[in-house]
Amino acid sequence: MTYAQPKNLDEALGLLAEESWSILAGGTDFYPSVLERPMPSRVMDIHALEELRPISVEDSHVRIGAGATWSDLIDAQLPPAFDALKLAAAEVGSVQIQNRATVVGNLCNASPAADGVPPLLILDAAVELVSHAGIRTLPLQEFTLGNRRTARASNEMVSGLLVPQQSVQGQSTFLKLGARKYLVISISMVAGRMVIDHKGVIEDVALSVGSCSLVAQRLTDLEAALTGQVASKDLGSLVSTRHLESLAPIDDVRSTIAYRMDASLELIRRCVNTLGSTPA
Ligand SMILES: Cc1cc2nc3c(=O)[nH]c(=O)nc-3n(C[C@H](O)[C@H](O)[C@H](O)COP(=O)(O)OP(=O)(O)OC[C@H]3O[C@@H](n4cnc5c(N)ncnc54)[C@H](O)[C@@H]3O)c2cc1C
Repeated sequence: MTYAQPKNLDEALGLLAEESWSILAGGTDFYPSVLERPMPSRVMDIHALEELRPISVEDSHVRIGAGATWSDLIDAQLPPAFDALKLAAAEVGSVQIQNRATVVGNLCNASPAADGVPPLLILDAAVELVSHAGIRTLPLQEFTLGNRRTARASNEMVSGLLVPQQSVQGQSTFLKLGARKYLVISISMVAGRMVIDHKGVIEDVALSVGSCSLVAQRLTDLEAALTGQVASKDLGSLVSTRHLESLAPIDDVRSTIAYRMDASLELIRRCVNTLGSTPA
């Protein structure tokens, strides 16, 4: 096995331009995966690239660098629209995992149960990909193609996530259901963000569900149905199974399809009740 630890981004991109490398960040998905298949022949460890670490609030967007860990995110000063992502962060594994694992690694691993995806979908996050040829950004929905599949080309790496300032509005929350409270893979998880105007009317709402389809989904029909409604702690009564039709959960060791659907319906109702009763 060839191991490289580039000292800066330029060096990393130079290596990626020459050959295909498996990228290693915090390693919390990478190492468990090599129990199931052989170690890749070329591993590039980007953990020491400090230039990728910052989380920064800029004029047009909030940037989460590819090196930012879940703990960095929890510690960052960010508006309430990021509360859902912070709540998810606090439920990723344990504190030891949060200290090591990166938010971007969670997306690049492309597990249907990745807790970071629903909270980033409600923020309309885009993925920034960089190569020697330049930079491109893709909406998160277009980056994740399926189970363990992303749109990243072999000469690219993800340098960060960009959340547009127009989506950094309103309150947000995240609810996760697992077979136990901590250190558990989600059976279902729901993220929501709501903007309520001064008259108490819902101006904008974003909702997403993970672990119930190959790729986490935004619930656009439900979002449309809730927009313009008067916010209240009973908003959940407007949510029906019809709004979950885009979900396609599977039966597995963690849950049956029917339980995943029931649980998701309940989580979505609780999510919108919470957001509907949160002061603007
Ligand atoms: C005990 C334990 C508990 C866990 N609990 C949870 C949980 O509750 N919820 C949850 O969602 N996850 C959980 N995880 C999974 C894991 O911690 C997260 O997915 C983590 O965020 C991955 O980040 P990482 O930096 O460790 O990625 P790595 O393992 O280093 O990499 C993961 C994948 O992303 C790729 N990658 C990483 N960075 C880049 C980049 N910049 N550009 C391109 N590709 C890149 C790698 O090549 C690899 O394919 C758990 C893991 C463990 C071991």
